[in-house]
This record gives sequence, structure tokens and C-alpha cells, in this order.
Amino acid sequence: MQKPDNMCMAPWVHTYLSPQTERRMCCASREPAQNFEQYIDTSAGTGKYIPVTLEQHWNSDHMRSVRRRMMAGETLPECEVCNDRLLNVSVYRDYFSQLFGGRLDQIWDSTDPDGSTHMRPVSWDYRFSNLCNFKCRTCGDMLSSSWESEQKQNNMVDWTNPKNAWMRNDIRAEISHFQDSQIEAEFSEAVEQHRVEEIYWVGGEPLMYEQHWRYMQRIIELGDGEKLYARYNTNLSRIAYSGVDLYRDILTNIRDWQICASLDGTGVTGEYIRTGLRYDQFLNNFKQGLNIATNTRQMRLDFTLTLPGMTEVDAMNSLAQELGVEMLAKVIFSFSPDIVMSPLALPRHILDPWVDELAGRSAGAMRDVLLQLKNRPTFAEQWPDQYQEGLRKGKARVLQLEQIRTHSVTMTDILGPRPDVLEWWMKIA
Ligand code: SF4
Repeated sequence: MQKPDNMCMAPWVHTYLSPQTERRMCCASREPAQNFEQYIDTSAGTGKYIPVTLEQHWNSDHMRSVRRRMMAGETLPECEVCNDRLLNVSVYRDYFSQLFGGRLDQIWDSTDPDGSTHMRPVSWDYRFSNLCNFKCRTCGDMLSSSWESEQKQNNMVDWTNPKNAWMRNDIRAEISHFQDSQIEAEFSEAVEQHRVEEIYWVGGEPLMYEQHWRYMQRIIELGDGEKLYARYNTNLSRIAYSGVDLYRDILTNIRDWQICASLDGTGVTGEYIRTGLRYDQFLNNFKQGLNIATNTRQMRLDFTLTLPGMTEVDAMNSLAQELGVEMLAKVIFSFSPDIVMSPLALPRHILDPWVDELAGRSAGAMRDVLLQLKNRPTFAEQWPDQYQEGLRKGKARVLQLEQIRTHSVTMTDILGPRPDVLEWWMKIA
């Protein structure tokens, strides 16, 4: 059976759960929110907490509709991130095809005309909570408990926005209860029933989750390590937990693995972009991974291109070369004109020459991601009536965070060596 071009294996094999227990096809799909809107959702949720179990979700109206439309060869708007290569050039759908493409016949055999499937998820992206020890400027409260605490402590939460209701103490308690009871039960059942073939450990910070260490040890103990592929998206600040070493005790005992270690710049600029990063410690932990890696796909640098990160492109290229590793690159998602951390906040006449310069010295994914910026609308082009107000708001937020956090550099310092960019930044008021 031939796979329709835009059909994806994910709705038959994979399931995603956000730290607020929102369910989606995958972390890249753009779907309506259930309860609380996440950053790439297409519409707001109810603002109330009505959690959905995996059982309820897997063959829900929505999932059945997705499967029917995919099997009919439709191009789904929910999958525009893959269809239009919005975040990076190599798309998530291809990953699922590579790993699970052999199950196409099973899909056709197991799916009823209404879109229900008898297949069950074997590939998991369960984010057990938003627990994270970092406050990266590309991130936010939904994905980082440190962000959440900072927002609350500094009265920065907009309580009038229903999407923030999940941070209310009463709802927070309900979410925690659902996570501790239902979510743990779902995942633990899959582990015990040998139904975990692929895990994407993301967070929050997955290596801060005690669940990571507990479940990975259990999978190995059950003898299922040899069929497990584990991916990590981690800040790599911690590689051991209660005497268990990630490399020695976990990764050497599973079929294959990949660590995408997030780093958005080197040295103090990297530490500014990713508050919590200790650059030397990161490098040390990364090199330990390189010592046990058996192929070059296992340890990768994962770079998210930001405005301050533009000044770090050369340094990141050199670092990847020095370490002998591949670098993944994507650009920060800019869904509104106040995301001044995006290079697309720059006006076209400043952005394009800078991109050309950097792309000329880059290769692979980094070069692709840079050049893509020239085909994307800048904020001024996308939101001609709102972008100036957006930039003002975004800059005010950057300055506010600089007051709250202690870093040895500021955005002004970082942009300083680029006079045209600095002048543009200083004029935002
Ligand atoms: S096509 Fe892309 S966005 Fe859609 S489910 Fe597959 S991986 Fe997710």
C-alpha cells in the first residue's frame, strides 16, 4: 500500500501529552486547545480543567477525523508545521515514517472506516510536568516551573487571560493529581505491557523528572531495553540521579538513543539566552556523552536561532566542528510581534545582509535555517499595523527580565558589536 504524501504515522503510533496534560497528535501539530491554549494551538481552550484520558483521546472524534482525512490523502491544516516546513527543513513526519513506515499495512488493516484504530501508541512524548531548572528566554511558564515561579513571584501573570488559569493554585492541584494518578498509570501500564518502543524525553527538563530514571530502569529490568529507542531534548545540566548515571546505567543498555542537547549560544551569551546554563558544565556533560557514543547521530547540539543568538552563529559552528558533532538548527517560533527574541523582529534591510554574511560561513541545517529567514515575513511585513507596539512590549519584557535575573551581559551588550542592530534596538521605545 502506497502512503499518501502528507499522511503521517504519528496518529497511529504516537501520543503527546503536555505538562498541563493537554493531548495532541505530536508536539508539532497545530490543533485546537482542550483546556489551556499552548503556544502553537489554533484556538483557545475552555480555560477550565477537564482532563482527557488516553483512552478517551485515542479514538476521539478529533483523532478519528484526523485519521480519515490522512487516509483520504488530504493535507491537514493541523500539520502545517510539517507541510510548510515552518520550524526546520527536516520535518517530524519524516522521522515517524523512518521509524514506523513498515507499519503501513497494519494501519490499513487496523483502522475502521470511521477512523478508529485498534493500534495502540508505542511511541511516547509524555511530559510528566513542567519541572525545569532553567528559564530560557525562548521558553515560558508552560514548559518551565522556574519560569512559572518567576512569573508568579513578580506579579507577571496576566490572570485575565483564560489560558493562564492552569497556574491557579486550585487548578494546579487538580493537574498534579491527574498527573500522579492517571498519567502515571497510563505510562506505567505501557511499560509493564512492553508497549514502549520509542520515547521522546522532553520537558520541562526530562533529566529532572524522577519518572525518567524510574521508568528507564524498569524498561531495562523488564528486558525491553534492546527494542527501545530514546530521544532526549535536554539542557544537559544533570546526567545522574540518585547514583544512576545516564550514560553508564541507562543509555548503554538500550537499542539506540539520541541526545539533542539544547544550546543557543556559547559562553555568557549562551548563559543569557538560557538562564540556568553553566556553559562549562554543559560542555563537560556533553563530552562524557561523546565518550560512550557509538555513532555520530547520538550526541547533537540543538540550536534555536534567536536575535541575540545571531551573534553566536560563528561560535556555534566552530563548537560543533571542534566536538565533531552535527548541529540541529531551528528558529524561535514567532506567533506575535512581541517576540523580540526572534530575528524576524529586525527590519528586512538589516536582517538580510546579516543573514547573507552568516549563511556564507555556515553549512547544513544552520545555513538552511538562516536562509529561510529571507523567505519569511518579518514582523513589519506580517503585522504592519501592530508590529511597533509589539516591539515596544517585547523590549519592555526583555528589560524587565534583565532587572529580575542576574547576568553579566544584557541584550544591549550582546547586540553591541553590530552597530546597525544596536541602533535599531535602542530606538525601540
Ligand atoms: S504530520 Fe507533522 S504535525 Fe502532523 S502529526 Fe505528523 S509529525 Fe505531527
